Amino acid sequence: MNADPLDLDGHEMVIQCRDAGSGLRAIIAIHDSSAGPAMGGCRIAAYPSTAAALTDALRLSRGMTFKNIMAGLPHGGGKSVILLERPEDKTPALLLAFAERVNGLGGRYITGEDVGSTVADIQLMRKVTPHVRGIPENGPGDPSPMTALGVFVGIRKAVLHRLGAETLTGLTVAVQGLGAVGSRLCGLLHDVGARLVVADVDPARAREAADRFGAAIARPEEVHGARADVFAPCALGAVLDAGTIRALGAAVVAGGANNQLATAQDGARLAERGILYAPDYVINAGGVISTALEGPGYERGELLRRVHGIADTLGEIFEHAIADGVATSAVADRLALGRLEAARHARRSA
Ligand code: NAD
Repeated sequence: MNADPLDLDGHEMVIQCRDAGSGLRAIIAIHDSSAGPAMGGCRIAAYPSTAAALTDALRLSRGMTFKNIMAGLPHGGGKSVILLERPEDKTPALLLAFAERVNGLGGRYITGEDVGSTVADIQLMRKVTPHVRGIPENGPGDPSPMTALGVFVGIRKAVLHRLGAETLTGLTVAVQGLGAVGSRLCGLLHDVGARLVVADVDPARAREAADRFGAAIARPEEVHGARADVFAPCALGAVLDAGTIRALGAAVVAGGANNQLATAQDGARLAERGILYAPDYVINAGGVISTALEGPGYERGELLRRVHGIADTLGEIFEHAIADGVATSAVADRLALGRLEAARHARRSA
């Protein structure tokens, strides 16, 4: 982040929301709206400090700018965080007070589900603002199935590129995290005959995957080192650092988690080890594509076409990485910044 405290990581607008009546404490961060109204979910969490919440909001909203522009969506990047002291502080009054703040922005920021917020929360917010997405009645609803599909087609592209494998049948994929995205991804992989190694901090989830898919179970802290063709992080961020990269057992890293690289240098570390990394904000964009297409003109065929398009974008990144001898993460950032500059130029000239 820039040393100037007022720079706020290059954000266009950062808003602090407080409401004494409901106890609301929230931050809405709009990183860049050159490509269109900022879109990104509302995270609800107990943060250790306001500074930690602000850092999270800024990091996530900047990430949404990159994700949305690489998915070719007419949206900029934004994110909001609601700070709770305790989980029971998430009350309807607090959610409605937050929705009023979103509404006050007049559509500059569109919110939706994220960690800690549910479809029911968003449906409640819809009572006071139209600037929400992820309403099942208006389209595809839960974005996780499309996130999982995007990761699946991305894995197919990556193994073709790195291993020359035309099919996933008989290949082994190690999946870390068996939640909404990871468990669906396991289903798609199992259907095409891939072998699975799975891990989750919740042992019941790992056992369920073992029963349903015949998966082998690995310990959560060791799954990245499992002997596999692909490692698919689908749990936490920052799972790829100097230590885990050294221990990686797969030639391809392609999964749904956000912010997989602990630092920017870790993209280069993966490339140095000859491991093909599918940049997270490109491969996991299926959910945001699903959310963006929600509304009166929603067509499932168009949604599927665009989610399958993630494989083409990855293919382009992989080719550039070879041609220029740089890491795939660096190529993705470069492409995203180029598109962003073009969107900024178009807005200035409009
Ligand atoms: P989720 O909360 O449904 O599932 C996460 C799973 O990971 C849980 O089963 C949890 O027990 C497990 N887990 C947590 N820590 C772990 C660890 N150290 N090792 C192994 N397992 C662990 O979340 P989700 O919606 O499936 O999202 C997973 C990741 O994908 C997150 O990083 C999220 O930000 C990202 N993502 C999700 C979507 C979406 O559509 N849901 C879209 C884009 C990105």
